[in-house]
Amino acid sequence: MSNVYLKKCDSYDFSNLKECIRVALDSTSFKDIKETDSVFIKVNSLGAYPENLAITTNPLFLKAVIQLVKEKTKHIKVGDNPANKELVSALKKNGMFKVIEEEKVNLFLGALQTTITNHSAHTYKEFDVSKEIIDADYLINLPKLKTHTLTYFSCAQKNLFGLIYGLQKSSWHVKAPTPLDFAYVICDLYGAIKENFENGHIINLCDGITCLEGEGPSTSGSPKHAGIILASNDAISLDQVALSITKLNKDKYIIGKIANEENLGEANLDNIAIIGDDISLFSDVSLREPDQGISSKAMKFLRNKFIRNICLEHPRVDKDLCVKCGECTKMCSSHALTIEKGTYPSLSSSKCIRCWCCQEICPHHAIKKTKRPIIGKILFK
Ligand code: SF4
Ligand code: SF4
Repeated sequence: MSNVYLKKCDSYDFSNLKECIRVALDSTSFKDIKETDSVFIKVNSLGAYPENLAITTNPLFLKAVIQLVKEKTKHIKVGDNPANKELVSALKKNGMFKVIEEEKVNLFLGALQTTITNHSAHTYKEFDVSKEIIDADYLINLPKLKTHTLTYFSCAQKNLFGLIYGLQKSSWHVKAPTPLDFAYVICDLYGAIKENFENGHIINLCDGITCLEGEGPSTSGSPKHAGIILASNDAISLDQVALSITKLNKDKYIIGKIANEENLGEANLDNIAIIGDDISLFSDVSLREPDQGISSKAMKFLRNKFIRNICLEHPRVDKDLCVKCGECTKMCSSHALTIEKGTYPSLSSSKCIRCWCCQEICPHHAIKKTKRPIIGKILFK
């Protein structure tokens, strides 16, 4: 039986927020942190997006967590590996840099990497991750609750993909070019991270006060108030409870199904004790799913490149919004998207693996999706 603590918290009003986070953290192994322990606070700082877009961890949420950790230890470091590896500019834009300065805690440098191993991996055994994160005694994982175009849903487990250094993240999409393969990356990585922390030394605390719905995890998603904080030592359980509360379809969240099969945590709601506020308080909460949801049964067919190309939607550059900056092409590890100086990006759809990294990185919300072809609608819905 694992525990997930639920707390209703309707706004980022700081004094109330801090008390809500305090009780949520106290339901986990947070209470065991000693003054000699080091703590890494892993935020979601996907890119340089303002906090009102609800793409990144809210700065006041981070501030409250830092202040509570300071009551335990002064060995604190904060950071993430944004998609384009420009952490400081991302943190300045989303408001977290100011908090890190005000609270006088250490900012993650991200220069050193180390290799971690999952000895029971399904497919991917080794991962190069940031050494500063892995070397901490405790990892406090602060996911933002979001829907996600590629993975359907993104919360505690997916947020840990950020242990992988900047641009290397997009190369994992090439190694694992379908949603099913990528789900094995996320699960094998999670297994490796768990092996590298003592039992109970990963604490997950989800900012679900304002979530992101629709075509997340970036500017194509829409902010949606949900008023939830969730905490658990088990990322798998936390994600399942978050899916359930937000009325998303757990069958489309393949990462959770694989995590369950691989015994990475508890995914069966019957075996998860939901503590804290009563779940009925969240009965009116729901999130709109991304358009392209694919059932887990259909997903294995996407390994076939031909089927992928005739069945799936592909990126389309909206020329009214595009400023020709080329950021999307830098993130396209499969070289499907290219740009000539002064022109709009152009797509070779046969090379496109539909990882949606281009959409995730575009600061101007200029990467749209074409409609799914009829054959894809028939086969994958
Ligand atoms: S689509 Fe977005 S990221 Fe790509 S060139 Fe245009 S504005 Fe830049
Ligand atoms: S064009 Fe976009 S969706 Fe296609 S492979 Fe490149 S980054 Fe991924």
